Amino acid sequence: MKRNRLLAVLVGGVFCVAVMSLYLMLEMMQGAELQHMETPDGQVEDDLSRLQQHVDKLERLLGDNNRLVATLRDKLFHRQASWVKGGAVNVSSDSAPSRADSLPGCRLAEEMKDGADGVQLLDIYDLLTFENPNGGVWKQGFEISYHGDEWAEQPLEVFVVPHSHNDPGWLKTFESYYQDQTKHILNNMLIKLTEDSRRKMIWAEISYFSKWWNDIDEQKREMVKRLVGAGQLELVTGGWVMADEANSHYFALLDQLIEGHQWIQRHLGVKPSSGWAVDPFGHSPSMAYLLKGAGLSNMVIQRVHYAVKKHFAQKQTLEFLWRQSWDSSPRSDIACHMMPFYSYDVPHTCGPNPAVCCQFDFHRLPGGRFFCPWKISPQRITEQNVEERALLLLDQYRQKSRLFRSPVLFVPLGDDFRFVESSEWDAQFGNYQKLFDYFDQHPELHVKARFGTLSDYFEALHRRLNAAGTTLPTLRGDFFTYADRDDHYWSGYFTSRPFYKRLDRTLEATLRATEILFSLTLAEMRRFRGDSRLVSDFPAREHFKRLTAGRRSLALFQHHDAVTGTARDPVVVDYGTRLFNSIVNLHKVLQSSAHWLLLLDKSQYHYDQLKPFMQMDDVMSAHDALPRKTPLTLSDEPRSLIIFNPTEQLRSSVISVVIDSPDAHVVDAETGRPMAAQISAVWAEPSQASSEHFQLDFMAELPPLSLVVYHVTKASVGSAHRARYTFHRRGNPPAIQSEHFQVSGSEANAPLSLSNKHIQIWSSPETGLLQKLRLQSGLVRQVQVQFLWYGTRTSQEKSGAYLFLPGEEGALLYSSSEPPLVRVSRGPVFSDITSCFRHFTHTVRLLHLDGHAGRSLEISNTVDIRSEVNRELVMRLVSDVANGNRFYSDLNSFQMQQRRTLGKLPLQANFYPMTSSSFLQDSTSRLSLLSGQSQAVASLRPGELEVVLDRRLQQDDNRGLGQGVTDNKLTASLYHLLLEDRRGGAQEEGGASVQHLSLLAHLTSLSLSHPPISMVAPSDSQVPKLRPFLPLRSSLPCDLHLLNLRTLEDPQEAESPSQEVALLLHRKGFDCSSAPELSLECTWSAHEEVNLDDIFSPLWFRSVRRSGLTLLREDDEPESARQQQPPRITSLRPMEISAFRVEID
Ligand SMILES: [Zn+2]
Repeated sequence: MKRNRLLAVLVGGVFCVAVMSLYLMLEMMQGAELQHMETPDGQVEDDLSRLQQHVDKLERLLGDNNRLVATLRDKLFHRQASWVKGGAVNVSSDSAPSRADSLPGCRLAEEMKDGADGVQLLDIYDLLTFENPNGGVWKQGFEISYHGDEWAEQPLEVFVVPHSHNDPGWLKTFESYYQDQTKHILNNMLIKLTEDSRRKMIWAEISYFSKWWNDIDEQKREMVKRLVGAGQLELVTGGWVMADEANSHYFALLDQLIEGHQWIQRHLGVKPSSGWAVDPFGHSPSMAYLLKGAGLSNMVIQRVHYAVKKHFAQKQTLEFLWRQSWDSSPRSDIACHMMPFYSYDVPHTCGPNPAVCCQFDFHRLPGGRFFCPWKISPQRITEQNVEERALLLLDQYRQKSRLFRSPVLFVPLGDDFRFVESSEWDAQFGNYQKLFDYFDQHPELHVKARFGTLSDYFEALHRRLNAAGTTLPTLRGDFFTYADRDDHYWSGYFTSRPFYKRLDRTLEATLRATEILFSLTLAEMRRFRGDSRLVSDFPAREHFKRLTAGRRSLALFQHHDAVTGTARDPVVVDYGTRLFNSIVNLHKVLQSSAHWLLLLDKSQYHYDQLKPFMQMDDVMSAHDALPRKTPLTLSDEPRSLIIFNPTEQLRSSVISVVIDSPDAHVVDAETGRPMAAQISAVWAEPSQASSEHFQLDFMAELPPLSLVVYHVTKASVGSAHRARYTFHRRGNPPAIQSEHFQVSGSEANAPLSLSNKHIQIWSSPETGLLQKLRLQSGLVRQVQVQFLWYGTRTSQEKSGAYLFLPGEEGALLYSSSEPPLVRVSRGPVFSDITSCFRHFTHTVRLLHLDGHAGRSLEISNTVDIRSEVNRELVMRLVSDVANGNRFYSDLNSFQMQQRRTLGKLPLQANFYPMTSSSFLQDSTSRLSLLSGQSQAVASLRPGELEVVLDRRLQQDDNRGLGQGVTDNKLTASLYHLLLEDRRGGAQEEGGASVQHLSLLAHLTSLSLSHPPISMVAPSDSQVPKLRPFLPLRSSLPCDLHLLNLRTLEDPQEAESPSQEVALLLHRKGFDCSSAPELSLECTWSAHEEVNLDDIFSPLWFRSVRRSGLTLLREDDEPESARQQQPPRITSLRPMEISAFRVEID
């Protein structure tokens, strides 16, 4: 009875909230109308449409509220069930919680502030002097000593792990490397490992392995399986590539891991257990999280700042449990081995002295192509020299062992593209075996050495640690920015080839959208037919192959020489072509899926590859060209425009198309309701408007994951709202050509200001660049946008693809002989300021939208520095935010990492990777820069935040690439700048060690990364009747991100879609110190438990199996596998990604 009363109270409470929401919405609308009083006649229709949109929105909000009530009811019943089971429960947990208590994401953020145990990398950075003294034979380290009796009790156990590092593209393309080297390596591996069961090998890159698998016959495949089964061959990490960890987005990092793991499970029936990342240029805990989530328990990393390595070696902490900064439990811990020395090649892996270790790289025996730069050659092991050689090597092993806590020693044996020729296998394996045999014959040496895999090593390590009752220390943080020697910091590659870093994200967004729509289409078809089969005309198998190819192109590009921009020019073209072709092919899947879903009469569906029913609105003509909009020819007959919202949230968006008329009319095709629209000029030149083409922007309200149809028609002259323009240019007013638009000249030095309901901005009338921001709350901040150049050093060592080595003078303010043309447009849908400089065009836009889209400034740049020599262009924000030396940048868009700008480090060391966001904060405000592409970010002085836009460098930087970066292109970059009021919520100045984005920033970032996708139906009047597709009743809770809905491969029929879909959900952790005024727009659950049936309603899951992050069948959680009946309540913890294999009915 008490429960029932509580339920009644709760339901009543939520109803009150709903009513209040309605009231507030109405009030907001009135405000909006008042603001638009000044606009010209003909507004009535727009206002009506606006009103209609608001009513629609209110209906949906009411739906959301209903859902919230339902969730609460479920939750109560769920609780009741657990009370019945668990007996007494503290009832006070239900008493009205404070805001921060009620949201798991906030709660977590609060819990974790500075309270973390274990070592924080940030603190080590504060501690280290970074002086780089000469350490002797181990130049960056120190002299290591031992007595010789350390192993008397517990013998030294050495695992020599043969490996071959195969870059899927760098100096040669993926295909060329495969033909010239990789296939020979793998062919020889098969022979040489089979010859002697003591031999072992590890392999990481599944892109190569799967390609080779396709080339070999069944007999050889059986041999591979035997080697894997016997533990002679271990697939490590199991990703498609050894991914870059700085520029890659976590969607792509996980996707390439899924692709690799799924391939391994299907063909070899095994599951990787150890990670191997020896070449990525710095390491991210996001990768550690994904590996752990995929079921791996150990990992190896290599490229870490030499000073950090030295410190870890001194403290014997090169092996540690890597824990996520935000995790208060050991759940995310993964055992990590950090290689102590300079490189992963043989000279730097047997021990501290490269001159000695090189003598044990038997590929460098005299007479061959390779030699030791330390001028002492290896010797073939003979009976005569074996004792002397063995003792020399043992001395290195013993010294290296002193850096670790256990007597188990890991010694990699390999290098780039090693073990190509049969003779190399014989030289390495033969000579090492003789040394191992010698150790075996001399027990007084107390050493046991053998070939091993990573798993062999880690098993022995954990056995020894357990026996000794010791555990590894815990560590939090990341390993950026990497330096391999002196002041050579690898912060250049955070930006190199920015055109392709942006293209990478375009493919990523296209792939995710296509995956989701394809999975929904198959589910809908099965339901439509009723017999779980697909519609025969629909090319599901063909499309699945396209999807697979798209996944693999994106996966390949995550390689640490691809997205990093550190490959040779022809290889870059090869990657670019793959990305471009994948986008084109995914569009085919997207178009035909949307076509079927939208048809009212499904029998009208047909598939014609050459003549698709729909066309994409945004079209790229080549891999190195920016996308362009296809101009639509309008007439009195409506053109159908189809918009897909790839986000799981109801969103207000501005949809933009190019048309051939200055007058147009847009209606929602389903309801006939007119949409608020604006016509703007298409600028052929900065001051010359096209007289043939015009830009139509309209406001759309897009339900989650929906396809909505709009009709665009030519309208009578003067009936559409046209943007109004003002131009500014110091000294020399431009001649403007624009017959269709109202243009007024500037008033000299009048302040330039734009505003919407949420923000007002002021810009310089001379440059158009932002100067000041004011929020509706009254918060005012100086935020000046500047552009600057970095040059290179005058010395020999200059910046290149990897390294950033700026000149001593630092950045110089951008200046041009000609003052910029500043173009200001104002309209009912958006207003913006465009500054046209010689090397870039910079636009700041305000959308006149309710919802989160109206709360940030959209900033876009197109940059062209092809005329420059050894220069890098940056955009800098100079604000009065008092952040001290602390700022935050994201790691792979998965989590935020605190950064401390340190004066003891050179300028280039203070640049960090930024995948999608960074922010500065003080006690009153937070300034976030959200980005649509990866690049370098720094905050060199308090209040400043800068991002590198493009770099053009004429020379190589001596890291093997052998060329500069001079293939620059016209490059676009996109941002949202968000100022948030933290008054009342925040305590600390610069920020705690663990911080998160706010919910508003998350939603803004989501919209930026996953824009609506526009398609156009043919113009003839024969268009069949289309109706919108609305798969979800309401938005997902706004702290829950649908990372993917990825159709799995059929276990029986290769290259065909299965009925099973990978449902990947990411629950965000978020900051609550800025008031979340979003309560009207999204809902969230107050509990970790979420009812999947409910949030995805009316989609229905026939089965739900919780699994590891790479969806391996053996990782299925048995408990949830049994949970066949709803409600399917599952725990989704803040910050965590959860994976399920589901069948959608
Ligand atoms: Zn590599």
